Amino acid sequence: MMLAEHAKLAREAAERDEPYHAYLLRLTELEVAARTANALAARIRSAGFPVHKEFDTFDFTALPSLPKQKVLELTRREWVDQHFNACLLGGSGTGKTHVATAVGLSLCRLGVRVRFVTAASLVTELESAQQEHRLDRLLTALDRLELLIVDELGYLSFSRVGAELLFQVFAERYERRSLLVTSNLPFSEWGSVFQGERMTAALLDRLTHRCHLFDMNGESYRFRESMQAKQTRADKTSKPAKAKK
Ligand code: ADP
Ligand code: MG
Repeated sequence: MMLAEHAKLAREAAERDEPYHAYLLRLTELEVAARTANALAARIRSAGFPVHKEFDTFDFTALPSLPKQKVLELTRREWVDQHFNACLLGGSGTGKTHVATAVGLSLCRLGVRVRFVTAASLVTELESAQQEHRLDRLLTALDRLELLIVDELGYLSFSRVGAELLFQVFAERYERRSLLVTSNLPFSEWGSVFQGERMTAALLDRLTHRCHLFDMNGESYRFRESMQAKQTRADKTSKPAKAKK
C-alpha cells in the first residue's frame, strides 16, 4: 500500500503545501486502514462461510416467535468471551444457516476467530485426520477458534468413530470455547445421530449448559417464498384485474 500510494499522496501534499508530518500521518493512516481491511477479509475467508448472509436481509417478522433482540445479542462478543454456546433448532428452510452465518460474520468483524463447518464435513475432516495420524494437529487448530459453528447436525448420522470424534471436539470446548450448533432435530432425537444414549446425554449436557437456545420452528421461508411466487403467477393468469373505483 505504502509503495503504491506514497507518490500520489506526496504530490497531493505538495500541491496543498502540507507540512511533512501531515503527509506522513495520512500515509500511515491509509496503511493501517488497508492492513485492518486485509486482516478482516482474511478472517472472513478462513472462516469458510458457505454463503454471505447478513441480518439486514433477514426478515424477523417471518418468525414472530423468535426473540429478535436476543438473536441480535449474539452479534456482540460477550457470549463468546464467556464461553457460552448457542443452538438454533428448527425445520428445514427456517433460516438457521442464514442466522448462523450473519452471527459469524458480525463476530469476525469484532476480531473473533470463527470457523463455519457442516457437521458432516467436520466429521469427515476428523476421520481423515485420524487415519492420517494428524488428529492432534487438527484438534489444536480447532481449539484455537473462539467460535466453531457446526451447521446441520442431524441431517446425516455418523459412524461410531465419527460420532466419538465429534463428541471429543464438543467435550473439549466445554466451558473453554464457544459452539454455535444448528439442527433440524429436537434434542430428544439426537440419539439417532450420536448412537448410544450415554454419549448423547453427555454431549447434550455439555452443549446446553450455559447455552442460548433458539427455537426457529415455523413455516419454511424457502417454501413460503416459492408458494407466494406461485400464487402471484396464478393470480396474474386466472383472476381478472379488479376494477378500480
Ligand atoms: P435452514 O438453514 O434453516 O434450512 P436457510 O437459512 O438456509 O434455512 O434459509 C433458506 C433460505 O431462505 C435462505 O436463502 C435464507 O436466506 C432464506 N431465509 C430464511 N429465513 C429467512 C428470513 N426470516 N428472512 C429472510 N430470508 C430468510
Ligand atoms: Mg441450513
